[in-house]
Amino acid sequence: MAYHVKVIPPSGRARIHEASCKFCRDGQGMENQDKGTGPTYWQPPYPVPGFPTIAEAKRYVLSLGSRYIDTQGSVHTA
Ligand SMILES: [Zn+2]
Repeated sequence: MAYHVKVIPPSGRARIHEASCKFCRDGQGMENQDKGTGPTYWQPPYPVPGFPTIAEAKRYVLSLGSRYIDTQGSVHTA
C-alpha cells in the first residue's frame, strides 16, 4: 500500500490518502478534476510512487509546518 498526501494550503489542510482511494488514484486526483493546478496539490504527484508507509506520509505532513494540524493522523481510505 502506498500513500499520497493531498495538500490544501488555503485551508491549511493536509490529508493522507491510500493510493487505492478513488479520490487519490495514485496521486492523480479525481478524473476531470484536481489536475494539480492551482493552490492544491498531491505529494508525491502522479506518476511518482506514493510514500511506502503511513509513517513517511505523516513525516511529510509534519514537514509542512504547524499550520497543517487539523487533519494530521486521519487517513482517508474510501
Ligand atoms: Zn482518499
